[in-house]
Amino acid sequence: MAKTKIAVLGAGESGVGAAILASKLGMDVWVSDMGKVKDKYVALLNEHNIPFEQGTHTGIKIMDAAEVIKSPGIPAKAPIIKKLKENGIPVISEIEFAGRYTNAQKICITGSNGKTTTTLLTHHIFRKAGLNVGLAGNVGKSLALQVATEQHDYYVIELSSFQLDDMHKFKADIAVLLNITPDHLDRYEYQMQNYVDSKFRILQNQTANDAFIYCIDDEVTAQEVSKRNIAARKFPFSIVREVEEGAFMKNNEIFITTNKTTLTMAVQNLSLFGKHNIYNSMAAAIAARLMDIRKDTVRESLADFQNIEHRLEMVAKIHDVEFINDSKATNINSTWYALESMTTPVVWIVGGVDKGNDYSVLNELVKKKVHAIICLGKDNRKIISAFSLLVPTITEVSSAGEAVMKAYQLSNPGDTVLLSPACASFDRFENYEDRGNQFKKAVRAL
Ligand code: ADP
Repeated sequence: MAKTKIAVLGAGESGVGAAILASKLGMDVWVSDMGKVKDKYVALLNEHNIPFEQGTHTGIKIMDAAEVIKSPGIPAKAPIIKKLKENGIPVISEIEFAGRYTNAQKICITGSNGKTTTTLLTHHIFRKAGLNVGLAGNVGKSLALQVATEQHDYYVIELSSFQLDDMHKFKADIAVLLNITPDHLDRYEYQMQNYVDSKFRILQNQTANDAFIYCIDDEVTAQEVSKRNIAARKFPFSIVREVEEGAFMKNNEIFITTNKTTLTMAVQNLSLFGKHNIYNSMAAAIAARLMDIRKDTVRESLADFQNIEHRLEMVAKIHDVEFINDSKATNINSTWYALESMTTPVVWIVGGVDKGNDYSVLNELVKKKVHAIICLGKDNRKIISAFSLLVPTITEVSSAGEAVMKAYQLSNPGDTVLLSPACASFDRFENYEDRGNQFKKAVRAL
């Protein structure tokens, strides 16, 4: 019998993982990347004798495939994808593909913000409970590579809307939707509903035996939930109202109720701080309790989780000034939560590549908490005009080092210097990690 022909578009973590899995399954695989493939992935493809091309998409081998696995970074409107669709060749994501070849329980996490944090936190609880759990999706190794080379009973999977867009038959045993705020609208014809629909694909194929965990305080989510007929069992979480099943907060305690049993924990014992992290902790705890992980293990794990870099990361305290690196805050919503969680006067470092920000939603928090703003972008006009009447001191700098020096000069003992840019980093840095690392280096050199 002829081998099934599979083409993989994009040779990054997910594409290469998918190619290795397909090759292990005895399929005839071809990998194509329009850009340059990283050395690490070239080595992996060679090691597995997988043929590939880079810098171009040679049509024939792709149009010949029975199925095409597309990396999430390639937009649906790319000419090659359009052509495939016109020719009726199915295009799927790596998660869809890998999902066919594992019977593991899948806990899938999506949302506009908080995905990585919640995915890592959930994985941490499962691991502490002694379960054989893999971490996949946007973080760490691809799901496909793990399905090809490892054996897990559970996977905690971070899913972006781009991955969800090319998922059809895949089913999450537990689906987590953290929040929906406008992001990446350029990929959704600037229609919010398209983006909302994409996020809700996390529910597709679920049955009454599956679970849906979601933030009922998030208006967009709550409204969409009320419109839809949802098959799965629903576990909402809230910090403003009580829920029967799911999670809520009352008198600075969180209550997690699943299957008629309740776990309680003081908010102050959560290792992650800020309102947004109460939500993230609730979501992870509900998922863990649904898998029957003991209450004590859940409590301990929520208390000892080490936050990941660049997300409200405490860097150092110097002469009573706290420096916090929140470089991953690349949109207004995540910066809102950063400012909201500040309990001291703030010197705020902001700016970069603005993706269409409406700064006015930050006005109240800025007025209340921020006494100096340092603009780190190349073009800071929008920020300056948004806040010049609210904040006495606004200055511009051209590097992370200069930003830290200036912030230190402008701060008083007891203040916090917060890098939470609300913008992408590409005007001055390689990526948000580079921005955060340069900030931390400068702080440590003070
Ligand atoms: P994602 O993987 O969805 O980009 P991260 O966990 O990497 O999310 O966090 C991105 C940014 O959003 C960080 O600045 C973080 O402090 C902030 N954040 C984390 N969780 C939430 C949440 N539930 N709501 C809003 N902002 C959040």
